[in-house]
Amino acid sequence: MSAIHLHNVAKRFGSADVIRNVSMDIADGEFCVLVGPSGSGKSTLLRMIAGLEAASAGRLSIGGRDVTDLPPKARDIAMVFQSYALYPQMTVAENMGFGLKLAGKPKAEVEQRVNSAADMLGLRHLLPRKPAALSGGQRQRVAMGRAMVREPSVFLFDEPLSNLDAALRAQVRGEIRDLHRRLATTSVYVTHDQVEAMTMGDRIVVLRDGRVEQAGTPVELYERPANRFVAGFIGSPA
Ligand code: ADP
Ligand code: MG
Repeated sequence: MSAIHLHNVAKRFGSADVIRNVSMDIADGEFCVLVGPSGSGKSTLLRMIAGLEAASAGRLSIGGRDVTDLPPKARDIAMVFQSYALYPQMTVAENMGFGLKLAGKPKAEVEQRVNSAADMLGLRHLLPRKPAALSGGQRQRVAMGRAMVREPSVFLFDEPLSNLDAALRAQVRGEIRDLHRRLATTSVYVTHDQVEAMTMGDRIVVLRDGRVEQAGTPVELYERPANRFVAGFIGSPA
């Protein structure tokens, strides 16, 4: 079964067609990377999957359920952003548990889920700290932890590594793939970085001007790019 299904999804801002009739399927358990130049519509497409942006046209389903008209909370997703937007006055534990608390989960369950996510992310010792006392990489992990405690079946990432330095980026890339495997979730990961796309994606969707230029495995895109744009963007010799 496909975890995420988009049928002729479009987005218009005023008179600008930002996403033009995109149809795609993302398989259950897949790590799918949306890649494309800045302004190609990656974030807009991801935000529509999240329900943070309404589609101007088309239908969208998650886990076999039509979610086109459902708000983010009613979709089985969690999103990790580029800017971590942690609450400075709260501890790491409070930041991670805040959404669950708002949703009315019992305190013991919130604690248990926060602790278990913190263990997986190596954050246990940082739980009492405030965000200001954390490094960039640690803040990024807290942002992932905040998404994990919701135990979604789909994770959406919008350029989560762009605020990290190169060495840390490589490390966290591996950690994200590892978490994806251990949690057995479906992930949609937005980046403008070709190397990131090629090394992380089970499948890559190349966007340009709001259209899908090509979708395929890294090997398919590299060996059989559909056109010059994909070849140039992916850096294949064709
Ligand atoms: P990407 O994430 O690939 O860089 P975006 O999805 O952020 O691209 O943006 C795609 C296009 O849509 C850009 O031209 C951007 O200016 C435009 N856009 C994005 N959000 C809005 C908005 N809220 N209002 C008007 N235009 C927008
Ligand atoms: Mg973007």
